[in-house]
Amino acid sequence: MGWYDIAIVGGGFSGVATIANIVRDASKPLAIAVVSREPRGVFGPAYATPRDEHLLNVPAANMGLFADNHRHFFEWVEAQGIAAAPGEYLPRKLYAQYLQSILDTARDTAREKGIHLDWFQGEAEDIEDHAEYLSVRSGAEGIDARVVVLAIGNALHKDSAGPVIDQPWKFDFKTLSPAQKKIALIGSGLTAADIIISILDTGWQGEITCYSGHAALPRPHLAGYDAGKRVALPPDQYISQRLSTIMQALRREIKSGAREWHYIIDSLRPLTQDIWRSLSATDRERLVKKYFTLWNIHRHRYAPHIAERIDAAQKSGQLKMVQARVASATQTPNGVALELTTKRGTETANGFDLGFRCTGVDYKTENNPLLKNILAKGLAKPSGNDYGIRASDNMLVYRDRPCEMYALGAPLFGALFETTAVPELRAQAKLISQAFLEDSIASKSRAIG
Ligand SMILES: Cc1cc2nc3c(=O)[nH]c(=O)nc-3n(C[C@H](O)[C@H](O)[C@H](O)COP(=O)(O)OP(=O)(O)OC[C@H]3O[C@@H](n4cnc5c(N)ncnc54)[C@H](O)[C@@H]3O)c2cc1C
Repeated sequence: MGWYDIAIVGGGFSGVATIANIVRDASKPLAIAVVSREPRGVFGPAYATPRDEHLLNVPAANMGLFADNHRHFFEWVEAQGIAAAPGEYLPRKLYAQYLQSILDTARDTAREKGIHLDWFQGEAEDIEDHAEYLSVRSGAEGIDARVVVLAIGNALHKDSAGPVIDQPWKFDFKTLSPAQKKIALIGSGLTAADIIISILDTGWQGEITCYSGHAALPRPHLAGYDAGKRVALPPDQYISQRLSTIMQALRREIKSGAREWHYIIDSLRPLTQDIWRSLSATDRERLVKKYFTLWNIHRHRYAPHIAERIDAAQKSGQLKMVQARVASATQTPNGVALELTTKRGTETANGFDLGFRCTGVDYKTENNPLLKNILAKGLAKPSGNDYGIRASDNMLVYRDRPCEMYALGAPLFGALFETTAVPELRAQAKLISQAFLEDSIASKSRAIG
């Protein structure tokens, strides 16, 4: 398949952001390969939804792909003649079109600069170090490059056995019928919110029961949110502290009532990675097990008008939240049956016409074959917990001159904690692009015409 200066594994936001930065900032010809499971133009699960009602959970003015222009997405929206406000939560489908336009621009710029850009659809199963180059293995094929970037996001939780719909965004909600009376949702995060809204949009009148360990839905964004009202939290109260001390400081800050909690939570963002790095292994594990849901529902919020519709559905009794973990789902003659683990023990809930899996992403290394393979070879260092790999400050995970491997996004969850959304990913993509371009100038990397 040829020799490349850089091979990017993954064609979602992180892959596109890495390409866009490199192509924009490169001052000499290069050869770039992308290897992604999905075809070109499918940008990972977040932006693959075809549905207008599935919205971004970050305001338009902060969804720009470039670290040096956070408004870039909003400027693109305006240039399309779409009437929108900077604080609006726009459809994720529109964001996919934005990513496509970035890719198109990158292709044009690449052509002008003599940069060769190839896109391969396939599964990267393994990476090998051949001293002069790294080889990304996909079946019998290999893509050889001096530098590899892991932009692989992470797998969605899956349990393909059983009758539950694993990719709920793809479901055709028009097929819901009045004869269907009961729907179960497994999980209660942003995906569940997407599905609730899609169901409500059809006018379907049956009962929706949402099962999760906390039975807690995301909190809504604050109407009229003003980023200027964030506070400078004293780092010494949060960094290099025990988790219990951090939680006390946070509660004190919120209780003081000086600001709405939304501002306090968002003010933690610049400190989150340092806080995480400075926690003991035990406290990290506790944070994931005990507080991760609590953190997520406050940190990753949804638009106020989505919250109003979901609240109304709860008040009318159409939507029920149930605190229970779903151990398994089976198809019975009476519909889908769920085996639940509750505080009382094991219970069964049955008679569902449909079940949707809304459990979000799976950060566990053991469920990611590519990560497992490169860890086994010593091509990356484990994060020290069950969630992915480690990277240096400029996202380097492996160096064996002249070869290098970088990573961004979800594979670094165990090392960084806050490494999921566009604001972190665009900064990481920029760091990788800079590190790579500086190096390729120094090493006069080869170009393919
Ligand atoms: C439903 C949902 C909504 C979200 N909404 C927002 C939002 O509004 N704002 C926000 O900032 N963030 C949002 N996020 C967070 C989201 O994760 C990031 O914005 C971003 O999409 C992550 O991009 P990524 O490229 O790192 O990972 P992904 O989108 O997961 O892309 C990874 C890509 O790599 C491919 N891949 C993985 N492994 C391999 C392999 N071994 N071989 C080949 N290809 C591989 C995958 O197929 C995929 O194409 C949302 C996430 C979800 C799930």
